Amino acid sequence: MITSSGQGPTYVGLLGWPVGHSRSPAMHRAAFEAHGLDWEYLLLPVPPERVREAVWGLRALGFAGANVTVPHKQAVMEVLDEVTAEAQAIGAVNTILHRTGKLIGHNTDAQGFLRALREAQFEPRGCQAIVLGAGGAGRAVLYALLTEGATVTLVNRTVERAHSLAARFEATFQRPIAVLSFEQFAAQQSVLNEATILVNSTRLGMTPAAEESPLPDTLELPPHLTVCDLVYSPLETRLLASARAGGAPTIDGLGMLVQQGAAAFSLWTGHAAPLEVMRAAVRGGT
Ligand code: NAP
Repeated sequence: MITSSGQGPTYVGLLGWPVGHSRSPAMHRAAFEAHGLDWEYLLLPVPPERVREAVWGLRALGFAGANVTVPHKQAVMEVLDEVTAEAQAIGAVNTILHRTGKLIGHNTDAQGFLRALREAQFEPRGCQAIVLGAGGAGRAVLYALLTEGATVTLVNRTVERAHSLAARFEATFQRPIAVLSFEQFAAQQSVLNEATILVNSTRLGMTPAAEESPLPDTLELPPHLTVCDLVYSPLETRLLASARAGGAPTIDGLGMLVQQGAAAFSLWTGHAAPLEVMRAAVRGGT
């Protein structure tokens, strides 16, 4: 692997603003230790106006790569030497690989999401999905579901944002995507009844507003509907608690968090990720 001097630890890190509460350092350090790798994962808080310099710095400092989080997932794309076709299609990079002097942008969120669904025994192929949220996570989830031939209804507070995301993916996948505002969604129990999975990719329900739920009060979760919440702090969100109470299968945000990290770990190190070690390390912080 790549180090600047060939001595001492190999570095990777998390570029974001802020990054202080991330679980990624604990998860990756545990994985490095499990493989006996002399690697270190650093938090790299970088304000938006310095992100270009920070990415160039990864190369200068001999980092093996980095994770990228809010608000830099799109901005870094302009500075990288290459961006994979998948990350281009999603429109975001969450993992950078530094190889033979080149910085290559990947997106492991979409495959992490699909792996988490399958790990939880939900088969996404051809499913009927409702995706709440059209931000960074919603973008990767929507892309992932469309690659599996899913039929998707996209719901977002800022409906124009959902329309522009849907238009982008309709062009890529040549299939229609229904778009609803939360107000429209609140009046459509039938959309929920016909769906096989509901995915929350909004911030609603996340600490410190854990009492919030993205599900409008007018709607009831049918027991056949799998309910997946990407929020992982807390792990048992109000949405998941009400789904569980009604007998619906649930998938929490831990699976995707670990699987996207596992894919990044394998890209950087070339090793299979120790999933259970990573899961335990993340759980340690919940
Ligand atoms: P983001 O890009 O900032 O997008 C936030 C989304 O939440 C947007 O759709 C936004 O709607 C919506 N939203 C925020 N406040 C809202 C409110 N008060 N009412 C209704 N909608 C609201 O954030 P992100 O990166 O997509 O992350 C979203 C969530 O997913 C976070 O909780 C994050 O921790 C989680 N996540 C989990 C994983 C995982 O591996 N489990 C991975 C990525 C993200 P507008 O467009 O109207 O602003």
